[in-house]
Amino acid sequence: MDRAEKCAWQVIETLEAAGHQAYLVGGCVRDRLLARQIVDYDITTSARPEEVQSLFAQTVPTGIRHGTISVLVGSLQYEVTTFRTDGEYTDGRRPSEVQFVRSLVEDLARRDLTINAMALGRDGILHDPFGGQRDLEQQRIRAVGDPRRRFEEDALRILRAIRFAAQLRFEIEERTLQAIAEEASSLQAISRERIREEWHKMLLTHPDLAIRLLLQTDTLRYIFFRPPADRTLWQRAADWAGRAPADLALRTFLLYSAIGLDQPRMEKNMQGLKLSSSLKRELHEQISMQSSGSPAAWSDLQFRQLFFEYGHRAVWRRCLIHAVSQDANRLQAWSERVDHHRQQQPLWNLQDLAVTGQDLIRAGIPAGPALGRWLQRLAQLVLRDPAKNEREVLLHQLQRWRAEETGDA
Ligand code: ATP
Ligand code: MG
Repeated sequence: MDRAEKCAWQVIETLEAAGHQAYLVGGCVRDRLLARQIVDYDITTSARPEEVQSLFAQTVPTGIRHGTISVLVGSLQYEVTTFRTDGEYTDGRRPSEVQFVRSLVEDLARRDLTINAMALGRDGILHDPFGGQRDLEQQRIRAVGDPRRRFEEDALRILRAIRFAAQLRFEIEERTLQAIAEEASSLQAISRERIREEWHKMLLTHPDLAIRLLLQTDTLRYIFFRPPADRTLWQRAADWAGRAPADLALRTFLLYSAIGLDQPRMEKNMQGLKLSSSLKRELHEQISMQSSGSPAAWSDLQFRQLFFEYGHRAVWRRCLIHAVSQDANRLQAWSERVDHHRQQQPLWNLQDLAVTGQDLIRAGIPAGPALGRWLQRLAQLVLRDPAKNEREVLLHQLQRWRAEETGDA
């Protein structure tokens, strides 16, 4: 048992010692049964949020209105949530209010999928009123209770069902699958941010399976702005994204390319899904790098210049995009090629130059924008001829350039 799990059981023990019930619940129980890596341990308890707060030295009222208190144990964090039901759903998005309840079973009943609706006690007893363990064994995704109603309450569950099916390579049970198709339009009410989070989780697991399920259930339209109708494009997208390493920008760009989006439509999709500014920047790097032509034709110098301009990760992505979309079976070779160039790279930024701005000022260059331009020029020199990255050589070169400019040469 690792430290994170040990501490989780200690949190549960503390709650029990104060007379409450407490269990591991949800994803951690599922992943434990599957012997998968556990991301975080969630705890469900009969204790009210204020009681949880009073029992632990360090807490954060993360979602106190929904009964969730984060308990901090050193650098570890546990979400402890009071048994609750979600009350009425008035808008198909969020419960209008939550109600704290007495029993564990009621709390499990509000959860989305049977495999996520199990709790484990310190006594080792698994509380599994909806057959989650059997569904895990049979590799089946099934909604808790009446699937249509559950999707009507919160349509995000539709994407969660698809995401877990893709992530775990499970089948979606018949009635649940049918309810997905019937309730798909409710996804319109779900915030773009929640949709984006699920979509990105799909992209980072088995995107090929996810895309197939999204196609099959006609739910792609709720993720993409006007997705192309041509299925062969989507099959290509599934194939490409599925073969690429699990990097969000890489897979997103491959998918955009596979379905043939031009730049304005890419922008529209990026905005539509409210992508983070860092992901947008990474995608814009790829758009901009298209003008450097095919990596297959890059010289050593071009590799050095692109590393300097865009950084290693962006160049790596560009090469893997090429490998997946144009050079199918040579992913490994391309990774190695990028790595080889990375090891040779003389200069990643201006700080790697053998001279500093101060050196240039001492050599008579006035501080200001001109200084930056001289540094850039020296950097280009070093990129062309890495052996020149020596202080004396660069200062000498600088004097020659300046002499040429003033006509003293
Ligand atoms: P992951 O490994 O992706 O974190 P998880 O199962 O832990 O998977 P979370 O989003 O962290 O997923 O949610 C924790 C638990 O809360 C789930 O296991 C499930 O029981 C419940 N849950 C989460 N989202 C919903 C939802 N939209 N409707 C009903 N129950 C939900
Ligand atoms: Mg989780």
